Formats: sequence, structure tokens, C-alpha cells
Amino acid sequence: MDFALTNEQREIQALAREFAESEIAPHAGDWDREHRFPREVFAKLGELGLMGVCVPEELAGAGADFVSYVLVLEELSRADAGVGVTVAVHTSAATLPIVTFGTEEQKQLFVPPLARGEVLGAFALTEPGSGSDAGSLRTTAVREGDGWRISGTKQWCTNGSHASTFVVFARTDPGTEGARGVSAFLLDADHVEVTREEEKLGLHSSSTADLRLDGALVPFDRLLHEERKGFAVAMATLDGGRIGIAAQAVGIAQAALDTASAYAVEREQFGSRIADFQAIRFKLADMATEIAAARQLTLRAAWLKQAGLPHGAEGAMAKLFASRVAVRTSQEAIQVLGGYGYTREFPAERFYRDAKITEIYEGTSEIQRIVIARQLLRGL
Ligand SMILES: Cc1cc2nc3c(=O)[nH]c(=O)nc-3n(C[C@H](O)[C@H](O)[C@H](O)COP(=O)(O)OP(=O)(O)OC[C@H]3O[C@@H](n4cnc5c(N)ncnc54)[C@H](O)[C@@H]3O)c2cc1C
Repeated sequence: MDFALTNEQREIQALAREFAESEIAPHAGDWDREHRFPREVFAKLGELGLMGVCVPEELAGAGADFVSYVLVLEELSRADAGVGVTVAVHTSAATLPIVTFGTEEQKQLFVPPLARGEVLGAFALTEPGSGSDAGSLRTTAVREGDGWRISGTKQWCTNGSHASTFVVFARTDPGTEGARGVSAFLLDADHVEVTREEEKLGLHSSSTADLRLDGALVPFDRLLHEERKGFAVAMATLDGGRIGIAAQAVGIAQAALDTASAYAVEREQFGSRIADFQAIRFKLADMATEIAAARQLTLRAAWLKQAGLPHGAEGAMAKLFASRVAVRTSQEAIQVLGGYGYTREFPAERFYRDAKITEIYEGTSEIQRIVIARQLLRGL
């Protein structure tokens, strides 16, 4: 057993931290207030190799491992959770399924521009009528001439307004109910129409868009993996993606603790630093302990995935626990800051708003428990 990061993992973590502290954190408050998607940041991250951390070098990625990737997500999310989710969806939900399931031609065509950060990727599974029950989706793909005609509505697609490559799920077998009739496709921006940019509680520097697929005709070679294997692509993608969201949650929680600790040693009441009151010290200690546990679960799940070992339940545990820690920690950070925590003068309230989504997307906490219990009770 070895808890130490490798030299390469430490170097990538340091690179991400340095970039996040100098180029992201100072602007995160403004981006949040202005609801600004910082497109230029992703080009710079691309130049550093951070838009394709765990993508193989021969496909223009950095060729690092999945552990390095989650370390990067934690650092980016610590500075700005909106930037964190943009990179997470771009990498693990859009790029990696092409690396894993794509044909050689699909890989060569789509992956290098994604891995270099020249274009952004998106993942369109959710629809107005199908969220947790993703297998009930209603978008259709019908064979026509040399290709597929795809029609339907997708909801809350992260990066939807800025992406060039979309992994889209549609029903190719209308006679089959549920997950078995679903296939995955690779679409371009001109195949999809953005109908709405969502207004959200937090993550204001990220894009969450509704899409219409108005009978887009795509050639046969845009099918990703085999026909009717789309649900398997989606589930495998989410198994890995969840570990990234756990890392995002750890990053938010760490940012909340950093803010609370810095404030506690500055603020004086009753003639002493509030950090000297045991009530405050214990809060900080509990926050640090929970974050350490969440980080270990997240790194363990990432390590299992990298080792090619089963990681579905472990990723679900990491997300379930880390997302709770992010919500609790950001809530406690507001408490440590008192009234200032409730104001926009300090970032604690942003962390609180950003933290909540980690309990919802890429599978709600209830769905994570279903995944964990299914594994736990298998064979009993
Ligand atoms: C900001 C944001 C970004 C997103 N990005 C993307 C994206 O890029 N691509 C994409 O495809 N989707 C995306 N989503 C969608 C997200 O993954 C879904 O919102 C999520 O999976 C939950 O689906 P739902 O909102 O329809 O909730 P529902 O499925 O309607 O669930 C409502 C409630 O019922 C509970 N519930 C549902 N089923 C069960 C069950 N069997 N047992 C117990 N409880 C249950 C849920 O846990 C939840 O509490 C995004 C959403 C948001 C808000």
C-alpha cells in the first residue's frame, strides 16, 4: 500500500494549483456575479495540457493517469467550481468515451482538438422527461439514406452553448422500451440548436443549456460504439465521471475551509481571535477531517479506475460522501464568517451555492446509494 503521489502526479497537481491560483481564483467572484463563461481560460488550460490530462499522448493528450486528472479537477474547483465542471464534462463525459469506444477514425478526428482545448465537448443524456431514469429517454435516431436522422430535446447540457463536439444519446430501436434501445452518437455544434441557457443557483461561470435536435442528419460513422450499446457507454462514462465530481466537491470543500481558517485567525471578538474559541477550532477540525476522508475515497476510486479494476460502487461512495462534505463544509464556513459569510464580500456563500449541485448531477445522492447497495447486496 502506498499513499504517496508519484513525482509526475505531484508536478501536474502543482501546475494546476499555480494556474488556478493566478489565473482563475482572482476572477472567480466576478465571473460568478457576471455569469460569465471564461472561454479564454480553457484555451490556456489546453496549452498546459490540462484539457486532456488523462488522454493518451498519441491523441494529443498529456498522457497522465486518472489520479492526476482528479488532482487537477480538485485544484480547478478549489478556485472556481464552474471551471471545474466545464473541464470535468469536457474530459470525462465527452472526450474519454470517444477514446474508449470510438473507432480509430473517430478518435483521430475528434479527440486531438478536444485534448488540446481548441474545442469543447459536451454530453447530452438528460431530457425534460428523463433524468435519473436515463434509459427512458425519447430522442430518436432513425435510419435515413446514408445516415441517421436525430430528433428530440436535451436538457441541462453542461458546455452546451460553447461545445463543438457532443456525445448524444438517442433511441435507435423505437420498438424497445428502456435502456436497451439506446445508442450513442457524435454530433457537431451545427447539428444542435441551443434553445435556452439555464439560470442556476450557482456554477455561474459554467454553461448549462437546453438543446433541440431538429431532425439533424448525421452519417452512419457518427454512431459511437455499437447500435443499442449507448446505455452501456453512458453508464461506463458516468462511473468515471462521478469520480471527477467527487474531486470537484473536495475542491469546493477545501476552498471553504481555506476561507474559514483565514478569517478565523483575522477576526477578533471578545478580545481574542475567533480561531481561539474552541467552538470555532472544532468546526475547522471537523471540516479538515471530513475533507481528508473525502479526498482519500476519491483518490482510491481514481486509482481503481486507472488500474482497470471495478470502480462503480467506489466512485459512487466517493461522490456520495464528498458531495455531502462539500455542502456541510461550505455551510460551516458561512457560520465561521458570521454575517460576512452571508454576504458577497466573501466567497463562502458562492462555495455553498456551488456545492449543492454535486449532490445532484452525474447521479443524485439517492442514485449513488442505489449503485452502492446493488454492489453490496450482489449475490446475497
Ligand atoms: C447544472 C447542471 C448540469 C448538468 N449537466 C448535465 C450534462 O452535462 N449532461 C446531462 O446529460 N445531464 C446533465 N444534468 C442533469 C443531471 O444529471 C440530472 O439533473 C440528474 O441526473 C437528476 O435528474 P433529474 O434532475 O431529472 O431528477 P429526477 O430524476 O427527476 O429526480 C428527482 C428526485 O427524485 C429522486 N429519485 C429519482 N429516482 C429515484 C429512485 N429510483 N429512488 C430514489 N430516489 C429517486 C432523485 O434522487 C431526486 O431527489 C445537469 C443538471 C444540472 C442541474
